[in-house]
Amino acid sequence: MSAVAEKHPKGLYVLFATEMWERFNYYGMRAILVLFLVKAMAFNQNDASQVYGSYTGLIYLTPLLGGYIADRYWGNKRSIIAGGLVMAIGEFVLFFCGHFYDNAALAMPLFYTGLGCMIAGNGFFKPNISSMVGQLYKKGDSKIDAAYTIFYMGINTGGALGPIVCGFFGDTGNNGDFKWAFLAGGIAMLLSVLTQMLFQKKYLVDADGAPIGDAPADAPKLFQKVPVMVGFLFLLSLVTIALVYIDIKVVSYLFWLLITCILLIAFIIFSDKSLDLIQKKKVAVLFTVSFFVIFFWSAFEQAGASLTFFASENTQRDLGFFVVPASFFQSLNSIFVVTLAPLVAWVWIKLGKANREPSSPFKMAMGLMLLALGYLWIATGVNGVGAGIKVSMIWLIGMYMMHTFGELCLSPIGLSLFNKLAPVKFASLLMAVWFTANAFANKLAGVFSTLYPENGKTTSFAGYQITNLHEFFMFFVFMAGIASIILFLLSKKLKGLMEQQ
Ligand code: GLN
Repeated sequence: MSAVAEKHPKGLYVLFATEMWERFNYYGMRAILVLFLVKAMAFNQNDASQVYGSYTGLIYLTPLLGGYIADRYWGNKRSIIAGGLVMAIGEFVLFFCGHFYDNAALAMPLFYTGLGCMIAGNGFFKPNISSMVGQLYKKGDSKIDAAYTIFYMGINTGGALGPIVCGFFGDTGNNGDFKWAFLAGGIAMLLSVLTQMLFQKKYLVDADGAPIGDAPADAPKLFQKVPVMVGFLFLLSLVTIALVYIDIKVVSYLFWLLITCILLIAFIIFSDKSLDLIQKKKVAVLFTVSFFVIFFWSAFEQAGASLTFFASENTQRDLGFFVVPASFFQSLNSIFVVTLAPLVAWVWIKLGKANREPSSPFKMAMGLMLLALGYLWIATGVNGVGAGIKVSMIWLIGMYMMHTFGELCLSPIGLSLFNKLAPVKFASLLMAVWFTANAFANKLAGVFSTLYPENGKTTSFAGYQITNLHEFFMFFVFMAGIASIILFLLSKKLKGLMEQQ
């Protein structure tokens, strides 16, 4: 942790604040999303879960486009402002949707428009803000890892505050109040954009003081003109509105699109003659790791869907003086990241000193196992509890704590593995694989959330029958547990492949 204490460029804190407000907006909105749908818009839990999966799945897909356009045409800085404004517009549209919630003919189109704008905007925001962190430093600077750790704290400060503030104003028990959560998200997003506008020029510079995140010198100037950018983003927003609408209401194509993306990228890389066998083996490690993270995030991201239904319906939230809104529970993960990350870092350092720090694949397997244990904990809490009975919030809190330990083992490793193992030529394309795996996992999270036994209904997945909450949570214990064991068994082999010279 000593590197964390070293002096970092001021630009890091500009990026920290920008990302913090954006995550406030994203997680604040997500905290009330399914509650808004079920309570105000009269969706059943099944449909709300599908919306959640399509929305969060597409959120991880548009960064592929946003990263590409920034690298070639707009540069990171311009893309962040443009994307941020489109997201803010999305929240304001959702605000009106929330205002007119009892008029479906008006509220529904506003809802899809708001989601589409959030998805389109995020595509330009998220990849570009993350890639600027590294650009503040000289290549190979040992402070970069610490910089990303600090940045991750920014993410989670926003992730902790968003659900609390948006939940406080929006999740009040009165359906007319949900709109205030969207408004709070929109204001946070404007603060994010404002931070960029005020400080970008002065502080987003590299170690030598040269500006970073500008468009490449040979980029066509026409495409950088404001009216052209606005026109492009407008068209893109229309496309994403259609994309999210079609996946939810017409035909669920997203899985197939994502699988096609992955296969195509795999084909491009593995058929490339300029890569040698060792490089290809390293790429194979990255594909394997991406495959396993799908099991992690699809169970983990129940947070915004089934676990919020559980908080709302089956958790005793009355403290006597205050009823904790169900949406507040979505901030627990971020609160635990901020408080537990130093502990996890300390453990790795201790083990490292004793030469016993586990390999990256082993840590990821541990992450999956902790996730399974978190679900085992909550499955125990609801075992034998009759329908409609509310259990103590200690079950959800303990589960989120274990899930966060899991995240801290798995999530930071994934990204750095890509930095280390990807051949330079395919660095961006392999990053796309990582995002696509996340998209797939989020979409799958929506599908898994439909298994939630609403009103005692029976659901099933691949022959596994779910009739009560215990069986629902055990589903994730089995899935994450089995994935973890397989990854543990593979970890030695993967480590060997990673280290081949
Ligand atoms: N919570 C983190 C974020 O919002 C990581 C989520 C993820 O990688 N799926 O950026």
